[in-house]
Amino acid sequence: MPTTANIRKESAVFKGLLLEKTGDAFSAQVKDIGEASLPLGDVLVRLEHSTLNYKDALAICNKSPIVRKWPMVAGIDGAGVVEESNHPAWKPGDKVILNGFGVGESHWGCLAGKARLKGDWLVRLPDAFTPRQAMAIGTAGYTAMLCCQALERFGVTKGQGEILVTGASGGVGSIAIAILAGWGYDVVASTGKLQEADFLKSLGAKAVVDRSEYSQPGKPLQKERWAGAVDSVGSHTLVNVCAQTRYRGVVAACGLAQGMDFPATVAPFILRGVVLAGVDSVYQPLAVREAAWAKLATDLDRTKLDAITTEIGLDQAIGAAGDLLAGKVRGRLVVNVSG
Ligand code: NDP
Repeated sequence: MPTTANIRKESAVFKGLLLEKTGDAFSAQVKDIGEASLPLGDVLVRLEHSTLNYKDALAICNKSPIVRKWPMVAGIDGAGVVEESNHPAWKPGDKVILNGFGVGESHWGCLAGKARLKGDWLVRLPDAFTPRQAMAIGTAGYTAMLCCQALERFGVTKGQGEILVTGASGGVGSIAIAILAGWGYDVVASTGKLQEADFLKSLGAKAVVDRSEYSQPGKPLQKERWAGAVDSVGSHTLVNVCAQTRYRGVVAACGLAQGMDFPATVAPFILRGVVLAGVDSVYQPLAVREAAWAKLATDLDRTKLDAITTEIGLDQAIGAAGDLLAGKVRGRLVVNVSG
């Protein structure tokens, strides 16, 4: 017969994707985690959904020094319900989103049934979204919004010309296309998955180009084409995009899927006044996060979001992380962590 104590005990153990390292031996496994082992924090969140971002995949596959404390529960994003709170802004039952702030890197993350987090890191889940939809957006989609907002903040307006989105079939890229097309921009998608051209057009791209046109070293200044660009790829791609950006155009750069290098000249910046707007999502202040999420709530087409989203279970996350790094994933992977 279940007693309150038993129920409490059962709910105090949950599944989580634990990353461990001893010497050179690394492991990523779904394990039982006790609530008592969670790190300090003033809000305990019962997570419903998390997601796999590029950074999560790097951590889970041990491909980059993402994790800074071992062992670590992976997951830089989570959405769920507050279970306990000592923070004035939050009470049990509140629905919340967590993006970044080093969670899944230096503080135990959200690819788990529960997380103990700092209340200052949390954003209220907009009424417009379920936790699953919020995680379909995740850091990738919230960053896509920050990039699109950066284009407008630095002066790009509709009617100035085409906007290029690189890494188009990925998380940031696919949501950036949906946002920009919804705002009435002429969007061109750059992809390595030309077989996904119809999908990218269904999100709102008016044309699709082969990413191989941008991935090799090019001339410092090239024929002017783009009024703006959202780049999640970096390296030669970002250099070529800047070199093709029109006078006073804006390039929002947030990613490194091709590489972290930037083997460029200053020519586009000093001769064409091109603005290179760097975009970080991890440590943005609360007001910026809330504004981005509010804009996503009003402006992101839910039908397109559904088309971008694939749901997986926690036990599938490790395999999916490898696929994501291999560039095989289209759109966004939501992870159901409630099971
Ligand atoms: P995804 O893996 O979902 O998408 C990346 C896409 O980039 C791929 O789908 C692929 O698109 C393209 N790509 C992959 N490998 C290469 C390559 N070698 N050369 C050129 N293009 C490539 O990742 P996300 O969209 O989640 O993240 C994209 C980048 O943005 C990552 O580097 C991530 O770390 C970064 N990021 C940064 C944030 C920040 O705060 N600054 C926040 C979120 C993400 P296609 O096949 O269509 O070409």
